[in-house]
Amino acid sequence: MLQSLHILTAKLRKALAQLPNLPRALGLVWGVARGWTIAWIALLIVQGLLPVGLVYLTKLVVDGILAAVRNGGDWPTVRGVLIKAALLGAVMLLIEVARSAASLIRTIQAELLEEHIRGLIHEKSASADLAFYEFPDYFDHLHRARAEASYRPVALLENLGSLLQNGITLVAMGAVLIPLGPWLALALMVSTLPALFVVIFYSLAEYQWHQRTTADERLVWYFDWVLTAAEAAAELRLFGLGKYFQEAHRKLRARLRGERINLLVRQSKAELAASLAALLITGAAMAWMIWQALHAKVSLGELALIYAAFNQGQGLMRTLLSTVAQLYANSLFIGNLFDFLALEPIVVDQPTTRGRNVNSLQSEISFRGVTFNYPGSEVNALADFDLSVRAGDIVALVGPNGAGKSTLVKLLCRFYDPQRGAITLDGVDIKEIPASQLRSLITVLFQQPVHYNSTVNENVAYGAINQSPPQEAIVAAVKAAGAEDIVSRLSAGYESLLGKRFVGGTELSVGEWQRIALARAFLRQAPIIILDEPTSALDPWAEVDWLLRFRELAIGRTAIIITHRFTTAMHADVIHVMEYGRIVESGSHLELLERDGRYADSWTQQMRTQPKSALREA
Ligand code: ADP
Repeated sequence: MLQSLHILTAKLRKALAQLPNLPRALGLVWGVARGWTIAWIALLIVQGLLPVGLVYLTKLVVDGILAAVRNGGDWPTVRGVLIKAALLGAVMLLIEVARSAASLIRTIQAELLEEHIRGLIHEKSASADLAFYEFPDYFDHLHRARAEASYRPVALLENLGSLLQNGITLVAMGAVLIPLGPWLALALMVSTLPALFVVIFYSLAEYQWHQRTTADERLVWYFDWVLTAAEAAAELRLFGLGKYFQEAHRKLRARLRGERINLLVRQSKAELAASLAALLITGAAMAWMIWQALHAKVSLGELALIYAAFNQGQGLMRTLLSTVAQLYANSLFIGNLFDFLALEPIVVDQPTTRGRNVNSLQSEISFRGVTFNYPGSEVNALADFDLSVRAGDIVALVGPNGAGKSTLVKLLCRFYDPQRGAITLDGVDIKEIPASQLRSLITVLFQQPVHYNSTVNENVAYGAINQSPPQEAIVAAVKAAGAEDIVSRLSAGYESLLGKRFVGGTELSVGEWQRIALARAFLRQAPIIILDEPTSALDPWAEVDWLLRFRELAIGRTAIIITHRFTTAMHADVIHVMEYGRIVESGSHLELLERDGRYADSWTQQMRTQPKSALREA
């Protein structure tokens, strides 16, 4: 007995420990829509009191009718009854008005709240470190925040409203019952305690089950994505993977469903036991009421009052209990939102950031002894890496896949901080420059640029969105990227919608998308241009044409070009050959050929496989 009491209190303590989210969630609601919240609370109080008025007026009307019958239907008594009956009708009407007004206010409030929370999630995910994307844990957090947090606060709001309103009604009902027999009110409360325990216990169990299965749920979503996404559609058909993924999806769903049903069955059994206990107590109370009536210890009006109050009280308690359960569950799940919002980026402007106004590059970009490995990876992507890039130069980085070329760019943009060493611009450590300012100095064509499903104009303008670039600038950037032919072929020119996600959009080829992205990179008037495999999707003829333009475009800017193609690299002022996170050779094209080392070797090999026309250009 003592032991089970101990287990019970331990479980309750555990359950209550989860509640601190509640004040924070309320703070959120209050902060978003103060005026509406006040109006809503006022309405809830009114709504809470009205049913008691209804019950009390019922008693007055019944007693009034009895008195009228006793007095032989004299007018003053009948008039009294009629007035009370009219009041009763008015209260009923008021209940309806208050209900629909409260529902309207709640909907408005819910909209505002949901919008606000989506904003918080977007803000967080748009500013989270790139490193977060390396951790499955981050995706779990994001998944939970997105799946749950956007509607849970709204549900919480509803629960609180219902709790407040029904709580008021119940207390008022209790107050009405007390003069007739205090233990009647007490019996009403006690009868619901087992059910209260059951709902809280199982809310916690369900929450814990959800936490435990987030990764599985994400896997279900992932299978769903593979089966439905445009990106996977071609392979899915060609390799005949549809059935395979469907089966995997079905199996995992079946397991999750089984676990959940198991939990629900146990909950139903416990609820049944709790209901039986409540029924016993209610039965005893009813017996007592009838006994009292039989001995004429209560008037008929009072009996009607007791019956109405007890009947409504039971219903109220049931509602209240399920509200408490939902409230508790919702506040648990809201914890997921707060967990997500509490993720702190590591790459931040340090308090020591001098905020030096570095808005140009005068002398050089320098990597000194930089060692970096990706979060969760044992291998160094860059090892004790040194590199100097003189301002105004066009520098090419060549080397096999995985040599660390893209990593270098990510470090320069400060998407990650290296474990050792420093990267400087004109001698200033990039950690000393506010990240947003640093990034405004750089424009990048990423290896896999984003295919924005918007117009050509917008796709290019995104490169300098804060400056609202004029049309001429966009046209110039498109020309510089060699994309004017692509645009001229589109039916609405610069206003053509790209991508197939929305009606009227045109899909481009990978190479065409890349040139649009190049235009975006060019539009940004940044002193440092980085191009990661700019010509990989261009055919050799287009490549030669493009390179000549790029030379012109890069005048006065510093350019770093990452490339596999030696026909691209050879035009650079300096070529660095990278291998295993280190630079193994540096020099101009001719110098490197003369050295007859790794570059010269690869050059000869690549030339053997190049089309003749490219060789002629080279
Ligand atoms: P390159 O651009 O020269 O092809 P990368 O800079 O992309 O090479 O990669 C350098 C090394 O870092 C490779 O060994 C690669 O596997 C590893 N790497 C790249 N990105 C990640 C990542 N997000 N997480 C872990 N390792 C990575």
